[in-house]
Amino acid sequence: MRKIKKLLYIYRSLSLLKKFLLAPALGLLLVLPFYIFAFFSMNNINNSVKEFNKELNPLQETAYKNIFLLEKAVNDINSAIAAKEIEWIDSAEIHIEEIRENLHKFFQSSYQKDAQEAIKALDAYYKVARDVSQKIIETDNNYRNIESDTKKVIENYKALDTSLKNIKLKIKQDIATSVNFIYESTTFLLLNGNLIFLVWFILSTLIIVIVYRDIKYKINTIVKDSKEIASGDVDFEKRLCIVSYDELGQIIKSINVFINKLHKSHEELSEAKKELERLYITDQLTGVYNRVKIDEIIDIELKKQKRYGYVCSVIMIDIDLFKLVNDTYGHLAGDLTLKEFSALLKSNVRDTDNVGRWGGEEFIIVSPQTDQDGALSLANHLRSKIEEFTFTTVGKKTASFGVASCSEDDDIQSLIDNADKALYRAKNSGRNKVVTHNA
Ligand code: GH3
Ligand code: MG
Ligand code: MG
Repeated sequence: MRKIKKLLYIYRSLSLLKKFLLAPALGLLLVLPFYIFAFFSMNNINNSVKEFNKELNPLQETAYKNIFLLEKAVNDINSAIAAKEIEWIDSAEIHIEEIRENLHKFFQSSYQKDAQEAIKALDAYYKVARDVSQKIIETDNNYRNIESDTKKVIENYKALDTSLKNIKLKIKQDIATSVNFIYESTTFLLLNGNLIFLVWFILSTLIIVIVYRDIKYKINTIVKDSKEIASGDVDFEKRLCIVSYDELGQIIKSINVFINKLHKSHEELSEAKKELERLYITDQLTGVYNRVKIDEIIDIELKKQKRYGYVCSVIMIDIDLFKLVNDTYGHLAGDLTLKEFSALLKSNVRDTDNVGRWGGEEFIIVSPQTDQDGALSLANHLRSKIEEFTFTTVGKKTASFGVASCSEDDDIQSLIDNADKALYRAKNSGRNKVVTHNA
C-alpha cells in the first residue's frame, strides 16, 4: 500500500513529457536486459556453429572415411590371400597407415582417448591380419590349420570396427547435441523476444491509455472549474482543484494564486467602496448623516407616505447664537460643541430616527411614521435635554426647533421649507423654542 502511494506520488510529480516517456522507458527497461542476454546467447550459438563447421564436420568426415578405408584394407588383404601374393598386402598397409594418420587428427579433440584406443585396435588387427595372411599363403590355403588364428583376426577386426564406429557415433551424437543446442537457443530467443515484445506492447498501451485518461481528466477538471469560476458571479471562495504536481498542477497553482490576489483586491475594493459610501453619506465633523443621505431618507419616507399613508416628520434644529461660540472660544471649541451637540441628539432619539447635519450649526431629524404631535414632543424633549446639557468649553447652549410633517402633496423641498419656516419663527419668537409648521 505504501509502495503504491509512493509510486503514485512519483507519478504525480513527473512532468507531462516524462509521463509520456514512461511507456518507451519501460520498453527499454524490458528490452535492454533481453538484448544483453540475446547478445551472449548469440555468441554461444556462433561458437557452436564455428565448432560444428571447423571441428565436428571434418572429424565426422574423417570418421566415415576411416570405416571406408578399413573396408578397403580388408579387401586388399583378402585379394592378397586370394592371389597368394603377400606383397599385395602392402597396399592394405597404405590404407591402414592412412587410418592411423586420420586417427591422429582426433588427438586435438575430445575424442583423443577413443582415437588412442582405435590406434591400438588398428595395430593389433593389422599385425594379426598380416601374420595370418602370410600363414595362409604359406600353408597353401589350409584354413583348418589356422582356424584359431582366423578367429583372432575376426575378433580384432570387430574390435577395430567397433572402435571406429564408436568414434563415428560419438561425433554424430555431439553433432546432434550441438544442432539441438543451436535450435533450442534460437527458438528460445525467438519465443522470448516475441513474448517480451508482447508484454512491452500491452504494458505500453496500458500506460499510454492510463496517462492519456489521467491527463484528459485533469484538463477536463481544469476546464470545468475555470468555466464555473468565469461564468456568472465570480465565486471568490472557489479554487481550482490541484490535480497533480506536473505542469498542469503548476498552471492550476498559478491560477489559484491569481484568484487569491483577485479575491484580496476585490475585498480591499469592497472595503474601500463601503468606506466611500459611508463617507459619501456621513458628515465628516460630527459623524451623523449628511445632506445627501437625509435627502435620500426623506425621499423614501415620502414614497412610503404616498404608498402606505405613513406620516413622517422632519425636525430642523439650529443652535442659538453659535457665532458667539466661535468668536469667544475659537473655531476648535466650536467644532467640539458641534460634535457634542450631534452626539446629544443621537443619544436622545429612537434608533429609527435619522439624525443629520444640514449645514453649519443646523441639524435635521427625520422621524419615520411619526405625526406632527409625536415630532413635537420629540423636539421638546430634545430642546430641554440641550438646555440641561453642559458643553465642555462653552457650558450652556440652547437651540431652536422647527417641526413639519409631510402631507401627500409634499416633496423634499416643500417639506424642508416648511420645517425651515417653523424654525425661522422659533428664532424670531426668542430662540430656545419649538415651533410646528401648522401652528
Ligand atoms: P442664530 O441664533 O440666529 O442662529 O445665531 P447664530 O450665531 O447661531 O447664527 P449665524 O448664522 O449668524 O452663525 C452661525 C455660525 O456658525 C457662523 C459660523 O462661524 C458657525 N459655523 C458654521 N459651521 C461651523 C463649523 O463647522 N464649525 C464651527 N466652529 N463653526 C461653524
Ligand atoms: Mg444657522
Ligand atoms: Mg444658529
